[in-house]
Amino acid sequence: MSDVAAYAAQSADADLAKTHIHRHAPAANEVAIDIEFCGVCHSDLHTARDDWGGTKYPCVPGHEIVGRVVAVGERVSKFQPGQRVGVGCMVDSCQSCSSCDAGLEQYCETGMTGTYNGSLPGGGYTFGGYSKHIVVREEFVLSISDKLDPAAAAPLLCAGITTWSPLRHWGVKAGDKVGVVGLGGLGHMAVKLAAAMGAEVTLFTTSPGKAEDARTLGASRVVISKDREQMKAVRGELDFILNTVAAPHKLDPYLMALNLDGVMVMVGLPDEAHPAPGMGPLIMKRRSLAGSLIGGIRETQEMLDFCAEHGIHSDIEMIRMDEINTAYERMLKSDVKYRFVIDLATLD
Ligand code: NAP
Ligand code: ZN
Repeated sequence: MSDVAAYAAQSADADLAKTHIHRHAPAANEVAIDIEFCGVCHSDLHTARDDWGGTKYPCVPGHEIVGRVVAVGERVSKFQPGQRVGVGCMVDSCQSCSSCDAGLEQYCETGMTGTYNGSLPGGGYTFGGYSKHIVVREEFVLSISDKLDPAAAAPLLCAGITTWSPLRHWGVKAGDKVGVVGLGGLGHMAVKLAAAMGAEVTLFTTSPGKAEDARTLGASRVVISKDREQMKAVRGELDFILNTVAAPHKLDPYLMALNLDGVMVMVGLPDEAHPAPGMGPLIMKRRSLAGSLIGGIRETQEMLDFCAEHGIHSDIEMIRMDEINTAYERMLKSDVKYRFVIDLATLD
């Protein structure tokens, strides 16, 4: 196709700034999308600043993409120009290993291709949604219902599915006692989704100022995690905990909040390791500590349809593209209610 405007980091310590990137015309199985909105995930910041190592520059982050189809390849059957669609954290996988067959493309045995910083077969790598336009193979494009507000639906493509997938995989159901650690982008979606599943939600936060919001979002109890007495008071109470914190912290106090056979699933991926958990808290009540990566395409569509049906959106702060660097600084201070979304109309 052509050169399109984008925002990129040119190195780990540079602010993001305007640039142009090349997008090709859609191949037979691809969908070309004009991007309207893109959510700002903490993983964008980790990648732009090379927190995890392996970032290729220039880096164009963004994997919570909502837009309109503008063209399709001749073999595309599910999408037509004009349709509103989404793209999440992946744009390709082998489509033939046992994980892909099971609809778990995120665990593809040969490695899925990330929406940004993902290696491409012919050399080169992917650029994400901080741009005007993207071209994606049909299998990785999601339908966005007209019932969803497009800007507030964008964060569902990562924050939504990353919390939905473990809640479903570990079979959270009505009446279960679920803890959510951290009220950020992922955490606030976890609270909403677990509450919509009928769970009784306890939110753990380091920010006392977020307690009232947590209740509005669906938590029935709020625990200030820095307060030892409050942490002690919930020992052995919960069936399941989803930990979304983006910084290293002690895990034992949360493990202790689980009941017999309770599970804590980690989705946060800090740049430094957490202090090693003690074996006592795991052994004494047969507790488990686990991890989970985003979610498959099929379950992403299920989550989007569930949200459309139940009127669930992300609580967003809309920003202009040129406000992205300030947004990153605020995200580092846990100061966002509760997801920044870029309005791509502000990028020319
Ligand atoms: P976020 O919006 O910045 O939220 C993280 C929350 O963690 C903050 O709002 C804060 O909540 C809490 N927190 C931050 N620093 C803390 C500290 N030092 N101690 C305790 N709590 C702290 O980030 P996000 O976009 O939700 O992403 C969270 C993490 O998940 C990131 O590491 C991201 O890379 C990762 N992620 C993983 C997956 C996956 O597939 N597993 C997918 C997407 C993102 P309170 O103010 O309530 O304490
Ligand atoms: Zn993300």
